[in-house]
Parts: sequence; C-alpha cells; structure tokens
Amino acid sequence: MSDSANPFFHLQEQIDDAAAYLPTLDNDVIARLKRPERVLETNLTVEMDDGSLEVFTAFRSQFNGDRGPYKGGIRFHPDVSRDEVKALSGWMVYKCAIVDIPYGGGKGGIVIDPREYSTSELERITRSFATELRPLIGEDQDIPAPDVNTGQREMNWIKDTYESLEGTTEPGVVTGKAIDSGGSAGRVAATGRSTMLTAREAFSYLGRDIENATVAVQGYGNAGSIAAQLLEDELGATIVAVSDSSGAIYSPDGLDATAVKEFKHETGSVSGYGGAVEEYSNEELLTMDVDLLVPAALENAIDTTIATDVQADVIAEAANGPVTPDADDVLAERDVLVLPDILTNAGGVTVSYFEWVQNRQRFYWTEERVNEELERVITDAFDGLVTAYEERNLPTFRIAAYAVAIERVARAFEQAGSWP
Ligand code: NAD
Repeated sequence: MSDSANPFFHLQEQIDDAAAYLPTLDNDVIARLKRPERVLETNLTVEMDDGSLEVFTAFRSQFNGDRGPYKGGIRFHPDVSRDEVKALSGWMVYKCAIVDIPYGGGKGGIVIDPREYSTSELERITRSFATELRPLIGEDQDIPAPDVNTGQREMNWIKDTYESLEGTTEPGVVTGKAIDSGGSAGRVAATGRSTMLTAREAFSYLGRDIENATVAVQGYGNAGSIAAQLLEDELGATIVAVSDSSGAIYSPDGLDATAVKEFKHETGSVSGYGGAVEEYSNEELLTMDVDLLVPAALENAIDTTIATDVQADVIAEAANGPVTPDADDVLAERDVLVLPDILTNAGGVTVSYFEWVQNRQRFYWTEERVNEELERVITDAFDGLVTAYEERNLPTFRIAAYAVAIERVARAFEQAGSWP
C-alpha cells in the first residue's frame, strides 16, 4: 500500500494537523498519541465444512486506554491489514473522546471475504478469533463491536465463546448484540442516526434548510441505508442517489430509501432497482450536484481528483476515513464543509456505550430513551466542536474535533501521573 493510501499515515497526519494548534501539548505526549499500545496478530487455523483446514490472519489493535477500556469493532474483509486496523483503532480513541464517553480505542479484523464461506464456517472462524482474543478482552479491558461485514450474529458468537470459556455471564464483553442476547434498543440504527443528527446540526449552523435538501449516499449498508432513511423520514431530505459495490442509482425526483433497502435485501444490490431512473458508477455518485454527500462505505473513497470535482456543499462522513488528508485540503480550499467521521458516525459507539451500561446494570432502556440520550450526546459534541472551531479560529471542523479530543486524552494521561 502506498503511503498516500495508508490509513495509518492518514490518522497520524490528522493528529499532527490538530496538534499544531495545541502549543501547550508536549511533543513526547503527541508521539504517544500517534501509535498503538499493542497489536495482536494471529493466524487462525479453522476446519472447513469439507474437512480441509484453512488459515486466516487476524488482528486486534489496542491503541490507547487512557480514558477507559479499549473499544472498537471487528471487520471481516479481504483488504483488512495491520495498518488499517491500527488506523481504525486510533480513530476510535478520538471518536470516544469527542463524544466524551469513557472508553479508549481498539479495532480488530480478519482477512476474509465472508461471502465465500458457509454460516457454520463463519461461526468456527469467529469463535476461533474470540478464543485468541479471550485473554485481551473483557468488559473492563477491551470491548469489541460490529463493523464492516459483521453484525449481531458474530457478536452473539463472540459473547458465547467468551462466557463459555470464562464460565461466567458477562454480556458487556461485546456490544452490538441481538436484543435477546443483551443488545440495546436503537443500536442497529445508531450510526445512521448520528449521521442524520450531525447533518441536521450542520445545516442549521450554516443557516440552511435540510428539508428538501438533495442527498447522495455512497455505500448502502448499515450506516448508509439507515442514514438515508432517517434523513428522508425525519428531516424531509430528498435522497437522489445511493450506491453499493455493484454501482450507483439516481433519480432526480428522489428514491424511496426504505424501498431501495428492501430491494437490496432481496437481490443483494441496489443496481437494477426499478424505481431508479439512471444507473451510474460509484465515482460519478461522489461528484453529483447535491447539497449533502454521505460517504458510508470504506476508507479513501474521496481522493484529491474526486475532491476537485465534488459538487456537494456538505460531506457527512458516515464511514471511517473516507476522505484522504490531501483531499481534505482540497475540500477546505473549495469551502466544502466536511463533518468529520469521529463525530458523524459516533452514534454506533455511543449506543454501544449505552448497551454496556445497561449490561452492567442488568436494567434495559426503551428505544425512546436511547434515542434521546444519543441526540443529547451528539448535539453536545457538535456544539463543543463549533465552540472550539470559532473561539480558537481553527481552519476546519476536523481539526477542531481532533483538538478537543486530543486534549481530553492527553489530560487523562497526564492526570494518571508517571509509573516506573
Ligand atoms: P456494511 O457492510 O453494512 O455496508 C458497507 C456498504 O458499502 C455495503 O453496501 C457495500 O456494498 C458498500 N461498498 C463497499 N465498497 C463500496 C464501494 N467501493 N462503493 C460503494 N459502496 C461500497 O458496513 P457498515 O457497518 O455500514 O460500515 C460502513 C462504514 O461505516 C465503515 O467505514 C465502518 O467502519 C463505518 N462505521 C460503521 C458503524 C456501524 O455501527 N455499523 C459505526 C461506525 C462507523
């Protein structure tokens, strides 16, 4: 992977960019905040349905635990790499800090294309990884969650493996579980909900009406499809284009976000949706003339070439790391407002935190309460970001978000004092 595409270098550059505005922060503390505390790399040997053995490389990065247990998802994808996992774990540190929940950051992944394996094979692979993770995880140590290509099913398997091996019940060892296995109401929709809330606050900050604003969404999975549904249903925005790995669909009069989601559920892709007027490539979606662009797929979706052609006024980063640092500079010069991932998609980890609180208390909240608490957390964080941006005269919302988050982590580290 070239340096320009390496998300770990992107993370480090983002930290440096913000640290430049934090003159009281020591360089040695900044150096600590730029690399993980530890990374597990393991090779899982798993029996396939036909009796053969296959080896899968997997990682877990524990980036920083100054503010609480490591927290972050587990991704199943053929492009998972050590550096990607390190970057994603670092973004979790600053995400938890900007929304001020008491966690550090972690992330894991298995190098696998899950579409090529049966359910029973995936269960053995997941349980094998959970067995490797057992000494590292726990509700006070490190708490995994879903990410790309993992969901409630995988989290239920991890919880069951851990609890069986430990001879206990500890539902808070993992979040994003099914409701009957100790999950929280509102968790599945949480990332899409925080994307909707952040966009709503940003349009209000800009003095613009989000009702009838046009929206394009790249990546129609958990985060993207739910953001689209909520932007349409709760704010009255018009979803004109959506995409997934099969391509993009566009309708100038607006797509029905829920009907497209059902179509994708039935057929496996958004392409071929009957209500769509035109089909486009994914790159074309990113440069459409819309008010709001929501990248909700993977890292590096918007590079400098695409950034030069982006026509949206606001980009809400539902995905982690969808804009490269060079592209960020181009967008800032072009006055495109980028709502940083560490705030925009923080709904997932925030409701994971609510799930963990409920697990520990064995007392469960209504969905209404979850959504109310989430709205409070996201709007408070947005206000804190805007205050930093304006009062410190910072150049972008991303730098403001990192400045606030880095200071919180650094304070916790310094307050802990030194240890031989
Ligand atoms: P998902 O697997 O449910 O959906 C991903 C979608 O992206 C799929 O529809 C896939 O077809 C599409 N996609 C993949 N490559 C694409 C491409 N090149 N162009 C267009 N679409 C493409 O995953 P998710 O959970 O929705 O995660 C999406 C992003 O959001 C990731 O960056 C993830 O880290 C981030 N995120 C997710 C959560 C969560 O709670 N699910 C929380 C925080 C951040």
